[in-house]
Amino acid sequence: MMARSLVWLRNDLRLADNPALAAALDAGAVVLVFVLDPAAQWGGAALWWLHRSLAALGQDCAARGAKLVLRRGDSVAIIPELAASIGATTVHAGRAHEPWLRQVDRDVAAALKARGIGFERHRSALMFGAEQIRTKSDGVYGVYTPFSRACFEAFAPRAAIAAPKRIPGIADVASDALEDWHLLPRAPDWAGGLRDTWQPGEAGAQERLAHFLRDGLDDYDRRRNLPGETGTSMLSPHLHWGEIAIDAVWRAADAVVTKRPDGKHTFLKELIWREFAAYLLWHNETLDEVPMKDQFAAMPWRDAPDDLRAWQRGVTGIPIVDAGMRQLWRTGWMHNRVRMITASFLVKHLLIPWQAGEAWFWDCLVDADAASNAASWQWVAGCGADAAPYFRIFNPVLQGEKFDPDGAYVRRFVPELARLPDRALHAPWDAPEAVLRSAGVTLGKTYPRPVIDLKAGRERALAAFKTIGKSA
Ligand code: FAD
Repeated sequence: MMARSLVWLRNDLRLADNPALAAALDAGAVVLVFVLDPAAQWGGAALWWLHRSLAALGQDCAARGAKLVLRRGDSVAIIPELAASIGATTVHAGRAHEPWLRQVDRDVAAALKARGIGFERHRSALMFGAEQIRTKSDGVYGVYTPFSRACFEAFAPRAAIAAPKRIPGIADVASDALEDWHLLPRAPDWAGGLRDTWQPGEAGAQERLAHFLRDGLDDYDRRRNLPGETGTSMLSPHLHWGEIAIDAVWRAADAVVTKRPDGKHTFLKELIWREFAAYLLWHNETLDEVPMKDQFAAMPWRDAPDDLRAWQRGVTGIPIVDAGMRQLWRTGWMHNRVRMITASFLVKHLLIPWQAGEAWFWDCLVDADAASNAASWQWVAGCGADAAPYFRIFNPVLQGEKFDPDGAYVRRFVPELARLPDRALHAPWDAPEAVLRSAGVTLGKTYPRPVIDLKAGRERALAAFKTIGKSA
């Protein structure tokens, strides 16, 4: 009889370049399973993505003669039970770096061992196991630049693993029906913009990558900060869910012969930011809650629910901030430059704790990622590893004028300002009344007045910062 294996998919929802699946297929027959574990606490946009991604993966499995088995509940109970019931000798999975999943893995490993079943984890979501990258004195990197240098020196992406043509499965393994999980929003159905923007699944990921390599990579370093253009890859949700392997993206980008090296090099460095975030989370399991710099625990944050709501809804009266927050709500994604601007505005001008912003992003992003989200919020707030100093406060008007000079981005997401001339677009409160009138803008009526005077907000932030000491 053929050996049997269980492949437990988590954030590696793909058939190509999947080392866990490849190892299981080498051994014999395979059952693929995904467990909807309540411990994951995914947000609304992530669940929308997950539904679509699992539907695509289910079809890809069916086309190869196998079934994707879906189960809901506690992975620690489900995985050993399922593995035993199909007579599996081994469970294969990608290695996890999220704290909740690491704990689950420890418990699953113990339960499998008690039943005499092996548990093999394969490098899959990341370029390295977090414990592999050490400083010369065998310590942990706290700063991105030397970390990235170490990654460039050490990373050799593995050779491509083609998606299997057939998957020898095992008949009659019971599965939940995806529809019964009710992951898609119904009343109200807020996902129209997500449907228009994304094609979750492996094919969608490959398409995005091909498009970016053709049209985006060469000029990536020049265009990546311009939110009005499609100058970045938009691969983040596909990478987060593992619909495409990091090795595959690196390999493909590295192989492109570009006119200038800078676009490609900058892009590979961004992939290492993702790696750095996962590395930080591995070494700091409370990254999503606890500031890495201790003194920030004493920051005199404001409890300001009205301001928080205005920020969440994109009605702060600051055009570039509102455009970003509306892009997030409509599409489940926000351009990186604008993520930095909106996050800085929340934690600095509004003096609202970064954890509140992080939680909103977690619920709204299709790429919501425990590592990248937490590390980036801590970075913007000034309390993270290698963070921007707290006293460096983005001026959202200057940021808008610099990175959205023709206002294409603001006009797309804040259409009530679309008829303003470029010179008035990023600070409509400074525009002469006649200019506002001829553009059909009445502040306080068709578009809000700013929730905060930017100069006063900046001074308040600096004063708050002074109270927690100079070492921050
Ligand atoms: P590209 O510019 O094409 O970059 C390629 C890939 O590199 C991305 O897909 C992503 O995987 C990785 N990457 C790029 N920049 C970063 C970065 N700064 N940190 C980590 N990885 C990076 N990214 C997430 O994937 N999930 C999150 O939950 C998330 N939350 C964020 C919250 C804040 C406050 C900020 C400032 C940034 C956050 N980012 C997050 C990082 C970054 O904004 C997104 O990865 C990027 O905008 C995704 O767009 P892209 O795929 O077009 O990126």
